[in-house]
Amino acid sequence: MRRGLIAMFHVIDDEQWFEQTLQFLATNYQFVDLPFFEDTSAQSRSEKMPLHITFDDGDRSFYDKAFPLIQKYEAPTTLFVSPKIIEEENTYWFQEVGAFSPSAFKEFLANELNVAPLLLSPYHPILICKCFKISFILNTINKFKLQYGLSPLLNQNISTNELKEINASSMVTIGGHTMNHPILANESDEISSFEIKESVGSLSSLLNTEITRFACPNGTPHKDFGAREMTFKKEAGIRHAVSTEPRHLTKNENLLSLPRISLTHGSTRYLNLKLLAGKHWKWAERMRSKSEQEQRNNLSKLIKQKHLIA
Ligand SMILES: [Zn+2]
Repeated sequence: MRRGLIAMFHVIDDEQWFEQTLQFLATNYQFVDLPFFEDTSAQSRSEKMPLHITFDDGDRSFYDKAFPLIQKYEAPTTLFVSPKIIEEENTYWFQEVGAFSPSAFKEFLANELNVAPLLLSPYHPILICKCFKISFILNTINKFKLQYGLSPLLNQNISTNELKEINASSMVTIGGHTMNHPILANESDEISSFEIKESVGSLSSLLNTEITRFACPNGTPHKDFGAREMTFKKEAGIRHAVSTEPRHLTKNENLLSLPRISLTHGSTRYLNLKLLAGKHWKWAERMRSKSEQEQRNNLSKLIKQKHLIA
C-alpha cells in the first residue's frame, strides 16, 4: 500500500471554489485512481503524494458543477450512489429531514417516540434519525409530510441518464452506497446484507458494468458499520470500500475500509492548513466526529431508558 490521501466531497455549492480546490490539489498532489494505492511495484510519475477524489450520494451539483471540472483537470474520481434513489428520481431521507422545520419535526418525532420534546431539543433532527432503523425514519417522514400536507421535494439528485453519461466517462467510476442510506449498524443482518448487495447488483445491471467499489453511509468504522458489513462487502464482490475515518492512507490499510478526509468547505489557505500541516486539524476533526458519536450514544441510551420505564 502506498501512503496517500482520499478526499471526500458531497455537494458543490460554488463551482469557483471547487475549481480553485482542484487547482490547489493538482499543484500539491498527484491525481490517481483508487487501485494505484495498492500497486507499490509501479514507479510513481511524481514525487507528490497521490490523491484520489470521491463524491458521495450523487447530488445534482456533481453533474452540473463538479463533473466538467473533474474532466478538465483529469482527476480520477469515484462517485458513490444509491441506484434506488437515482432510478426512482427520489430524495435521500436526510435531504427530506434537512428541508423540514427542525422544531416541528422534532416535536413530531418526540410524539412518535412517546418521549418528552425536551429530551430531543439539544439534538439536530438528522442526528436523532441516525439512532434509528431506516424503516422508522422513512415511515416518520411520510407521516410528518402527510400531517402537514407537505408536497414532495424537488429532485435534488442526478438522473439515470446523467449517471449513465458519468459512468461512460473514463474519469469517473461508480460505486455502491446502499439502497436507502441507512446506518447499517442499526439494521438486522438481512437488511444490512440487502442494502449492500442489492445496491451493487442494481447498479451493475443499470450500468451494465461490474461494481467493485462501495461506501457505507455515514462511514464511521465500528459505529456505522462493523465486521458484519465487511463480510457482506466481500460477498458482494467489492474490492475497494471507503470509510469516513479522517486520516491519510498508511502502508497497512484494509482495502474494505479506506480512510477519507472531507474537503467540503474552506479557502485554499484553509485546505493547505488542513492537508499539509494537518496534525492539529486531524485532531479537531476526530473530536468533531467523536462528538457526533457521543451525542448519538447519549441519545440512544436516553430513548432506551425512557422506553424501559414506559
Ligand atoms: Zn451518503
